[in-house]
Amino acid sequence: MTVVDTPAAALPVIPVMRPWLGEEEAAAAAEAVASGWVAQGPRVRAFEEAFARRVGAAEAVAVSNCTTALHLALHLVGVGPGDEVVVPSFSFIATANAVRHAGAHPVFADVDLVTGNLTPETVGPVLTARTRAVIVVHQAGVPADTAALGALLDPLGVAVVEDAACAIGSTLYGRPVGAGVALGAFSFHPRKLVTTGEGGMLVTSSAEVAARARRLREHGMSVSAADRHATGSVAPEQYLEPGFNYRMTDVQAAIGQVQLTRLDAMVARRRELAARYRALLADLPGVRLVEDPPWGTTNHQSCWLLLPEDSPVGRDELLESLAAAGISGRRGIMAAHLEPAYADRPRVHLPATERLTADSLVLPLFHQMTAAEQDRVVEALHAALR
Ligand SMILES: *Cc1c(COP(=O)(O)O)cnc(C)c1O
Repeated sequence: MTVVDTPAAALPVIPVMRPWLGEEEAAAAAEAVASGWVAQGPRVRAFEEAFARRVGAAEAVAVSNCTTALHLALHLVGVGPGDEVVVPSFSFIATANAVRHAGAHPVFADVDLVTGNLTPETVGPVLTARTRAVIVVHQAGVPADTAALGALLDPLGVAVVEDAACAIGSTLYGRPVGAGVALGAFSFHPRKLVTTGEGGMLVTSSAEVAARARRLREHGMSVSAADRHATGSVAPEQYLEPGFNYRMTDVQAAIGQVQLTRLDAMVARRRELAARYRALLADLPGVRLVEDPPWGTTNHQSCWLLLPEDSPVGRDELLESLAAAGISGRRGIMAAHLEPAYADRPRVHLPATERLTADSLVLPLFHQMTAAEQDRVVEALHAALR
């Protein structure tokens, strides 16, 4: 047996994120299994209704994940081969990948250094006659100023799709992110707040768009399998246009319904922990923690900090010190334009994106985190940065 004598090794590793799942989710999943209806069915419908109510959307359409929700959204606004779609490079790569899935070209725009989000100033210069849509990401839960972007894009007839993968429970102009939006996409991956294992939700203010999205996620069928079962209809379905299989299962939806009841508590706890980080790290010179913008509130899906340009310790070195103390930090949000996957796009220099992705890191933050665990993170940061 190897004896490791560093004190950190004796302490359990603090993860960067941990989903909050309990007996209730297990019971709900078991009930769905026992019912015999495990594919998309009544629980998906009930989850959609609860979700739409919670975020203030007219319609919610459950899908297999947020990437497929984004692809569906682009398909619904007619994005296709030859089109350009403006996206922030400063995002999880799925944002750009969805554009490729639609056959279009992602055009990378820079972001605001404080919010990490697109602004009219960063989007304006990259618009061309071929720009069909812009995917506005509410990065890490920080709401983007969509009204300002709409003022630029609406008169040009450029569609806006909101990537709210991380932003359930965040607010924008006093309403939940997703309220009244033309097209928005949410994720239920365990790295986000509400999880169904894998899963996504498309929200829209249009009943017509929602009806088409419901068809498209289920092979383009005119009547869903669940509805045919419920009504006992024997009329054959039609396939009105080529669709996809982007369905969520009833087992996932059963879990999602329980998760939604935890959302308010999750957001409150995350905001409390983030405020505590802010207070305890205030003495670190030049270090900046992500915060609410003037137009909304963040759910702190990721609580990231930005090191000063003249930081005595680099980001990667800092991550190593944290790891040695049994703390699992993460590099900040990635920059898609620097990845080999997009090396075929014209090279661009995005100063704010490149600075953020190089010098930021995500701190551990999860619902069940204790003050003692948070103190360990704070102490390790002080030890490394002093
Ligand atoms: C997680 C994430 C996605 C992808 O979500 P999946 O449900 O895993 O497909 C898309 N965009 C952003 C900004 C994300 O953080």
